[in-house]
Amino acid sequence: MTIETNSPEETEAFARKLGEQAVPGQIFTLNGDLGVGKTIFAKGFAAGLGITEPVSSPTFTIVQEYREGRIPLYHFDVYRIEDPEEMEEVGLDEYLFGGGVCLIEWADRIRELLPDDLIRVTIRKNPDRGFDYRQITVEGGPDENSGN
Ligand code: ADP
Ligand code: MG
Repeated sequence: MTIETNSPEETEAFARKLGEQAVPGQIFTLNGDLGVGKTIFAKGFAAGLGITEPVSSPTFTIVQEYREGRIPLYHFDVYRIEDPEEMEEVGLDEYLFGGGVCLIEWADRIRELLPDDLIRVTIRKNPDRGFDYRQITVEGGPDENSGN
């Protein structure tokens, strides 16, 4: 699925719907350049789960846990990870199989540590389409895997 947005609010609203439909065990990877809207997406997604506390990029802590919503949200930002082994210290597997939903900003950096069953979200800008334009692609979601 590919959609286009023209404001942070539209991106949040789209992510909110995915958050509303999320089920335990899902792993969403969020890829795209710095400032493209990964954290904006995470904010909307969290709202869809019923989380009201503020969501920001957990760049320094690597992972932030939100337990207030319908199911736990584990929000990662692995931008600063240089060696995949650092993720062992973070306890990645306990989150991946922890009964909540994982949302992983910069997931390509730890790709070899992640299972194959991912919902891959990629956000792209296109300068020709204006400053606030974003193209958001979602691959591997339930829509694609069911009913075939
Ligand atoms: P990232 O986490 O990918 O580094 P952020 O989500 O922190 O990026 O920042 C995205 C920035 O882009 C915000 O300042 C936001 O207001 C801006 N923005 C402009 N248009 C959009 C859009 N259509 N969708 C998401 N963010 C947008
Ligand atoms: Mg971010």
